[in-house]
Amino acid sequence: MRYSALNILKEGLTGNKGWQPAWREPEPKKNYDIIIVGGGGHGLATAYYLAKEHGLSNIAVLEKGWLGGGNIGRNTTIVRSNYLLPGNQPFYELSMKLWENLEQDFNYNAMVSQRGILNLCHSDPQRDAFARRGNGMLMSGADAELLDQDGVRAMCPFLDFDNARFPIKGGLLQKRGGTVRHDAVAWGYARGADERGVDIIQNCEVTGFDINNGVCTGVQTSRGNIKANKVAVCVAGSSSRVMAQAGMRLPIESHVLQAFVTEGLKPTIPGVITFGAGHFYVSQSDKGGLVFGGDIDGYNTYAQRGNLPVVEDVCEGGMAIMPMIGRARLLRTWGGLMDMSMDGSPFIDKTHVDGLFFNGGWCYGGFKATPASGWCYAHLLATGNPHETATQMRLDRFERGHMTDEKGQGAQPNLH
Ligand SMILES: Cc1cc2nc3c(=O)[nH]c(=O)nc-3n(C[C@H](O)[C@H](O)[C@H](O)COP(=O)(O)OP(=O)(O)OC[C@H]3O[C@@H](n4cnc5c(N)ncnc54)[C@H](O)[C@@H]3O)c2cc1C
Repeated sequence: MRYSALNILKEGLTGNKGWQPAWREPEPKKNYDIIIVGGGGHGLATAYYLAKEHGLSNIAVLEKGWLGGGNIGRNTTIVRSNYLLPGNQPFYELSMKLWENLEQDFNYNAMVSQRGILNLCHSDPQRDAFARRGNGMLMSGADAELLDQDGVRAMCPFLDFDNARFPIKGGLLQKRGGTVRHDAVAWGYARGADERGVDIIQNCEVTGFDINNGVCTGVQTSRGNIKANKVAVCVAGSSSRVMAQAGMRLPIESHVLQAFVTEGLKPTIPGVITFGAGHFYVSQSDKGGLVFGGDIDGYNTYAQRGNLPVVEDVCEGGMAIMPMIGRARLLRTWGGLMDMSMDGSPFIDKTHVDGLFFNGGWCYGGFKATPASGWCYAHLLATGNPHETATQMRLDRFERGHMTDEKGQGAQPNLH
C-alpha cells in the first residue's frame, strides 16, 4: 500500500479501516539465500538495498527483539558528513546523498530535516583544524562553511561567547546536516524490504552458527535452525558476543551511551550544535524537547542504562556553552549499546569463514551511516567486492597498520 496525501484523505473520510500492516509477520523458512542477523537500521537497510538494487528477495532479517528496540530507536538522530579522512568522508557523503532522497525512495515519512549542524571552536588551533576538515569535506563534494564569531552569534545569540574557559571563536557549519526521526528509518526500510519479499522475523535470536570446514551454512536460532548461502551479521553493540559464537575475537568493545530529552520548549535551537572543547551535542525535536548527549560511560558493559556521573558530565558540557539549558527540566534519559572499535571507524567486510560477513564498529556515529552502510553491505554481499567508498572498512586494517583514526586518539575505544 502506497502512502500519499490522497490515501490519508480517503482513509480519514472512511474511518481509517483500509490501512494494512506495514510488514508481514512470516514464519521462518528452512532455507534462504541470505540471512541478515540483527534488525536494526543497518540490517534493515541492507535487506532493502539487496532487494531493491540487486533484485534479491530470498532474504530473512532475524531480530532477537523488536524492530527499533536497539540503537536505531535510541540515538540522538543527528546526521552529517563532516569527516576529514579519505577512508571516511566519501562514505558519509554517500550516506548524506541517500538521506536526501530517502523518503521518496521508500515512500515513508522519516522526518528528514536538513536544519544544519554547527561544530563550535574555542581556540585558534581548533579553528585551523576545522578549516582543514571543511576543505576535506568540500573536496569530497560535501558542503562546509567556516563561520567567525559574528557568524555564529547571528545564528545562535544565546550561546555563552565569552565563557572564561571555553570562549566561542567560530564554528564549522554543514547546512545539509541535521536530524532524522530514528525509529521511522527502521520502519521505512522494513516496510520497503517486506514489500519486495524479504522476511522480517522478530523475536528470533541467533544463538550459534553452523560452520563446517571453514564454511558457514546457516544459523541456530531460538526458533530453530535455518540454512543460508550467506550469513551477514549486523548487530551493533552485540557484535563481540555474536561473533564469539563463530569463534572470532573482534577489535571492538561495548560501552553504554546515554541520551537525554527535556520538557518541550518554544523553538530555540535552529539546528544541531556541538561543543568543541568537551563532549556535548544538542538539537531540538519537533515536539520542542531539547535532545542531547555527550560521552559514553567509559567502562565495558552490555547494559542499556548508564550512571549519574555521566549525566552530570554531559549537563556540565551543556552549561558551558548555553547556560540557559540549566532552566530546562530533564524528562527522560536512556542508554544504548555502542560497538566501539579500536580506531573509531567501522567494518563492512567478509570474515575468514566463507559465507560469513560482518558489519559493525559504528561507535557513536552509526545512525548517520545507516543508508550508506546498508548500500555498501548489500554491494559486498551481492557482488563479493567492497563498495568503492568502503574499501578501508576492512577487518585486517590493524594488522596492516592502516587505521582510520578520525580523532587521532589511538587504540583507545572509549575515547573515540
Ligand atoms: C544514545 C545514543 C545516541 C546516538 N546518537 C547518534 C547520533 O546522533 N548520530 C549517529 O550517527 N549515531 C548515533 N548513535 C549511534 C547509532 O545509533 C548506532 O551506531 C547505530 O544505530 C547502530 O546500528 P543499528 O541501527 O543497526 O543498531 P541496532 O538498532 O542496535 O541494531 C542491532 C540489532 O541486533 C539485534 N541483535 C543483537 N543480537 C542479536 C542476535 N543474537 N540475534 C538476532 N538479533 C540480534 C539487536 O536486538 C538490535 O535490534 C547513537 C547511539 C546511542 C545509543
